[in-house]
Amino acid sequence: MLITHDTRCALDAVVDLVNTSPEGDETPDGLPDVAALADFVRNHEFSDVGVLSEFDLSAVRKVRGRFAAIFAEPDARTAAGLINELVAAAGTTPRLTDHDGYDWHVHYFAPGASVADHLAADCGMALAFFVVAGEQERLRRCEAPDCRHAFVDLSRNRSRRYCDSRTCGNRLHVAAYRARRKEAAG
Ligand SMILES: [Zn+2]
Ligand SMILES: [Zn+2]
Repeated sequence: MLITHDTRCALDAVVDLVNTSPEGDETPDGLPDVAALADFVRNHEFSDVGVLSEFDLSAVRKVRGRFAAIFAEPDARTAAGLINELVAAAGTTPRLTDHDGYDWHVHYFAPGASVADHLAADCGMALAFFVVAGEQERLRRCEAPDCRHAFVDLSRNRSRRYCDSRTCGNRLHVAAYRARRKEAAG
C-alpha cells in the first residue's frame, strides 16, 4: 500500500488526536483548552485554519470521539460506516497539489475548512485507504493493558502490538518476567 507524505502526516495527526482522549480519572483530556488545540495544530502544521475558538475545540473533540471508535474496530463494514459519516459531515473538495516541493497528492479538505472538518476530511480519507486496501487491522490499539493508545501498524508483517516497544512492550516483558519469577519462587 502506497503511503504518501500527506497520508503519513494525516496518520500521525489522527493518532495524536485520538491519544489526547481523556480516560477515567487518571488521564485528563489532552486538549483541555483552545491553547492546547492551537499547539496541536501548530505541531501538525495545518495550514489555513485561522483563529481558533471554543467552537473549534468542541468540534474537534467530537471528531476525536468518532476517530477513536474506528481504531481497533474489528469489523470493516462498521469501520467503513464510521468513516463515511465522518467524511460526509466534513464536506470534501478533493484537489491535486504539489505544495512545498512535495510530489503530486490530493488534499480533501475544502478551502477555508474549520480545523475539525480539515481533520475529518483528510484523516478520514487516510483511514479510508486502509479499509480499501483490506488493511484496516493496521489501525490498532496498544496491547499493554494500562495503555490502549491508538497507533497505526506500518510494519511489513503487521506484527506490531505496542504503541511504543521501548516503553509499553518492555514494561509488559518486565511484568511477565516478574510474574514468572514469583511463580517459580512460590
Ligand atoms: Zn499536502
Ligand atoms: Zn502503549
